[in-house]
Amino acid sequence: MLSKDLPDIESILTLNPRVKSHAALCSTAAKKAEKKHWKRNSEKGCDSCVELENNFDDIKHTTLSERGALWEAMRCLKCADAPCQKSCPTNLDIKAFITSIANKNYYGAARAILSDNPLGLTCGMVCPTSDLCMGGCNLLASEEGPINIGGLQQFAIEVFNKMGIPQVRNPNLPPPEEMPDSYHSKIALIGCGPASISCASFLARLGYDNITIFEKQNYVGGLSSSEIPQFRLPYEVVQFELDLMKDLGVKVVCEKSLGQGGMTLRSLREEGYQAIFIGIGLPQANKHRIFEGLSMEQGFYTSKDFLPLVAKASKPGMCSCRSPLPQLYGRVVVLGAGDTAFDCATSALRCGARRVYVVFRRGFTNIRAVPEEMELAKEEKCEFLPFMCPKEVMLKGGRVHALEFCRTEQMDEGEWVEYPEQVIRLKADFIISAFGSGLTDQTGLLGSPF
Ligand SMILES: Cc1cc2nc3c(=O)[nH]c(=O)nc-3n(C[C@H](O)[C@H](O)[C@H](O)COP(=O)(O)OP(=O)(O)OC[C@H]3O[C@@H](n4cnc5c(N)ncnc54)[C@H](O)[C@@H]3O)c2cc1C
Ligand code: SF4
Repeated sequence: MLSKDLPDIESILTLNPRVKSHAALCSTAAKKAEKKHWKRNSEKGCDSCVELENNFDDIKHTTLSERGALWEAMRCLKCADAPCQKSCPTNLDIKAFITSIANKNYYGAARAILSDNPLGLTCGMVCPTSDLCMGGCNLLASEEGPINIGGLQQFAIEVFNKMGIPQVRNPNLPPPEEMPDSYHSKIALIGCGPASISCASFLARLGYDNITIFEKQNYVGGLSSSEIPQFRLPYEVVQFELDLMKDLGVKVVCEKSLGQGGMTLRSLREEGYQAIFIGIGLPQANKHRIFEGLSMEQGFYTSKDFLPLVAKASKPGMCSCRSPLPQLYGRVVVLGAGDTAFDCATSALRCGARRVYVVFRRGFTNIRAVPEEMELAKEEKCEFLPFMCPKEVMLKGGRVHALEFCRTEQMDEGEWVEYPEQVIRLKADFIISAFGSGLTDQTGLLGSPF
């Protein structure tokens, strides 16, 4: 019966005739104007579709709502011998915390994460997951892609943060007065960045109860505060992790710098500190010799000049040092292709730059930054110029005006060559160099007899 045509099939077909007797034209301009009411992909080539200037809202694609988190947690296969955990530098039991989220046990999920990693929220937000846990996820090749592990981690700890539960001393430890004397030794940690916060948290969990962190700046958190921008890592996150550490009795003394004001390793020893952890990071920016003598007033910044200025102006609560954002305009050239360069590029747009060029010596296949960082810069319409090496800064009226580059190429044997005769000049109102950082012996640490 069903295989037979209905008796009135011909009349049904005539209701929707396919052959039109006339064209239904509409101009492209009118259609483009109309599509704005419904089309979700942004206009190609618009300078910056979302108003970015002074906009420090979260731009991470990984941030999840509760519904999104539950969906993602259900998708996880809870693999035996899970490769995600094997690819995690903190060896987090990822499938266990995802299972807790799937069961709506958000406290349990956060507890599992923070037990293994006291900086669990920071890592959920900015860890290069595509290179690590997500890169190893068994669902990587599936249609919906790998599990958004960073987003789930962020979600669980944000819920936990709202619960306002403090960290408590390990109840399995004997009471402080019954602990051996060595647990009451004075311990100093130098620098209050992620390394020291993590180290102090674990020491305090072991039962050490006389720990002090000395920080050079009048704010805490190291690069997480001073260089990673607010739209990727808000200051409240650092404050939350610091408060958890302080719950265990760790003291923090700001504006106390090793190597200054008489504080040396020797003086700390004399004050009775029996162990000293040095977590001062890499405070000095690497600078190309062609930029020697150039200043911010002339339009030249290193990433270590620029990003802290942006952070101080855009991170509420970071310090009482709140100052205005650097005022950029016109064309900004960012040099480098690491995470720092892309943070500089996206921050420059928020400081008023009209166009941002990210220029680097190698090709796209050699970009050091994680893909998600580069994607964000691309979405915000930064331009990328590979195979260019800076050669000379052109000044006009004492200010940066243009930058000359020569072309580079990688030979079959792998080495990089420059072609000085192939010169490219790029107009630049500002230059930000993001060539990484190093350690100079300002602290007198290198070769210290300690
Ligand atoms: C722009 C940028 C973006 C980044 N993005 C990411 C990312 O997305 N994901 C990621 O995982 N990592 C990222 N990183 C790397 C990450 O921030 C660092 O690996 C991390 O901050 C290192 O921690 P740390 O504690 O060793 O050093 P730091 O964070 O540098 O902290 C060192 C602390 O020591 C203090 N100090 C320095 N000298 C002294 C002294 N003499 N006396 C007392 N205190 C001192 C400093 O003020 C600082 O507070 C990024 C880094 C940068 C610069
Ligand atoms: S590898 Fe992926 S699917 Fe398997 S447990 Fe880890 S996150 Fe879940």
